[in-house]
Amino acid sequence: MSKENKSIHDFDLNLICEYFSGVERQGPGSPEVILKALSFIKNLSSESIIADIGCGTGGQTMFLAQNAPGQITGVDIFPDFINIFNNNAATLNINERVKGVVGSMDNLSFKDEELDLIWSEGAIYNIGFERGLKEWRKFLKKGGYIAVSEATWFTNERPHEINEFWMKEYPGIDTIPNKVMQLQNAGYIPVATFNLPEECWTENFYEPQVEWQIEYLEKHSDNKFAREFVESQRYETDLYYKYKEYYGYTFYIGKKI
Ligand code: SAH
Repeated sequence: MSKENKSIHDFDLNLICEYFSGVERQGPGSPEVILKALSFIKNLSSESIIADIGCGTGGQTMFLAQNAPGQITGVDIFPDFINIFNNNAATLNINERVKGVVGSMDNLSFKDEELDLIWSEGAIYNIGFERGLKEWRKFLKKGGYIAVSEATWFTNERPHEINEFWMKEYPGIDTIPNKVMQLQNAGYIPVATFNLPEECWTENFYEPQVEWQIEYLEKHSDNKFAREFVESQRYETDLYYKYKEYYGYTFYIGKKI
């Protein structure tokens, strides 16, 4: 990649980062879903060490921290997200035990068998579900838990348009039984799976973006990438409303054997 291309690429990443910094969530989810996932996790105490991988600005991490004991480290590749994360933790006065660090999920700096819980909402797709489960396993203590939400097909078959979209965006999307098999093959006991309710996508993720898109487009009206990016987000939203019976996010909870 030439230097010139690299700088264009960095600029695009900054625009994406700015877009998602303007909304509370960078992916579908809800407080209720966090509580439900936590209800399957039995080993936590004030001594626990927890990682939230691909934490974004930390909307879900702050709620997790208020409902689970122990130290929590959020890891994200975007420094701007981590700044917002650490400001949020300070505002809530939980910054002693909740800290954000910049890092990549394919090169984590946790020690072997250090963690009691690995949490990751709507982020493991960046490394791939199977690869993430396998590579992160070493950081968990024996008996430690992994809890991740992940794009999932709800049916065996689906319309061509939505299939095409996902094959381009994330070919790792698969059905619940196949994902559970991957979890088991990666060395975990499958403890629970449940599908995220629709409001996690509609009310909590897509709807807050609508007003912000207008403001963002006004700010970047002369920028082709910004306009195309918002278009792509709107297309993704339309597809969700059209095809939501066929896919969504599923929470997978596993226990390291
Ligand atoms: N967990 C958050 C964010 C989900 S969006 C939420 O539920 O709202 C996915 C996140 O993964 C983004 O914040 C993105 O910056 C981060 N990410 C992408 N690639 C990454 C990588 N290689 N290492 C760490 N984080 C990454």
